[in-house]
Amino acid sequence: MEPDAVAPATPSVKPLRPLELLIVQPSPFCNLDCGYCYLHDRSDRSRMSMATLERLVQRVAAAPSGLAGEAGQPLCIVWHAGEPLALPIDWYEEAFAVVARALAGRSVRHHMQTNAVRIDAAWCDFFHRQSVQVGVSLDGPAELHDRWRRTRDGRGTHHQVMRGIRALKDAGLHFHIIAVLTRDALQMPDAIFDFFAGLDAEQVGFNIEEIEAAHTRSSLEATDAAELCRSFWQRMVKRVQAEPGRLHVRELDSVLEALRHPEFGQLDGNWQNQPGCLLNVGWQGDFCHGSPELLGCSHPRLGPVVVGNVWRDDPFRPQSLPRWQAFQDEIDAGVQRCRQACAHFDFCLGGAPANKLAEHGRLDVTETLACRLNQKVLIDVVLEDLERRLDAAAPPAGNHTCSVSGAR
Ligand code: SF4
Repeated sequence: MEPDAVAPATPSVKPLRPLELLIVQPSPFCNLDCGYCYLHDRSDRSRMSMATLERLVQRVAAAPSGLAGEAGQPLCIVWHAGEPLALPIDWYEEAFAVVARALAGRSVRHHMQTNAVRIDAAWCDFFHRQSVQVGVSLDGPAELHDRWRRTRDGRGTHHQVMRGIRALKDAGLHFHIIAVLTRDALQMPDAIFDFFAGLDAEQVGFNIEEIEAAHTRSSLEATDAAELCRSFWQRMVKRVQAEPGRLHVRELDSVLEALRHPEFGQLDGNWQNQPGCLLNVGWQGDFCHGSPELLGCSHPRLGPVVVGNVWRDDPFRPQSLPRWQAFQDEIDAGVQRCRQACAHFDFCLGGAPANKLAEHGRLDVTETLACRLNQKVLIDVVLEDLERRLDAAAPPAGNHTCSVSGAR
């Protein structure tokens, strides 16, 4: 949708929200070369120095009251934006000690999302000792996974990932999965369900193959993608219901969680578009707020999305940074337009700035390919299913609706 399709949004200065996730890029390097990778610098072997990490966590420790996370909640650090296991265990031993020292007395929870190729007994021992929450990137059965998730010389990685998962299981570690849905994956809902249901993962999250950052085209730009997506989710809902407990799907759970939220219908944004919720810090200390995929991106009018560096600037007082407010105003204008124009707003809460920027070259817009497929189609499928089940349970004269158009 074009930005002028609804009444112009009026930017307003919003207070910063408490930090929910601190995303730290230990290195931009990745040992793989996946077909849909969005990372700009995945051949760059640079590493964050311990001095830069220390400076960052000192900024966290000195943040104004309430901004470095909710009181009493652990600080969640996600080591991301490159393959975290491309760095050695020794590096993390030192890094975690730096974090613990600077944040003495504060509980910290470390997360790593990995391609799992390098997971072995030594890594599992480290995950155990440091209570690291592990997520594995895996697209499903080998025939599907190996089409996209390849080594730098073009070989599939499924067998290596499964070896890593076996190591996690042998060590008694829990893990979750993130799988990317490409056009070919959408045509294989049963194979995907059966594969993941047999894996004993805590949860599977499905991301559609988005256009974002360095990944500028998607196999889902095809005109039949919405219909394929709809069929995929309809089948997934059926399988999940028919075999309760076998597979927990993040996207299905999240629609129901949104409905159960005590403030459903009154929320004004999500953690990717509200100021302060996400802080992304690159290996050299550069930082931006909002979607993690924004790190390293540039806006055609406003310039680099990175607005400061921890050596020079305070990410918890970003209002003083020259371009920060301009970015947040444009993000807010997009969210406001979503609120005015979109029947799915109460579930999606205004989408992801990274998708808006990658698809439209601006942030003050509404619909993207990502939200059409990952939000609208999915929400409709789940609500239609709920409505069918309510109809089946209600007396014949029951008059209710769960459809999105009825929700607003
Ligand atoms: S689904 Fe989300 S991002 Fe897309 S138009 Fe609606 S509120 Fe905006």
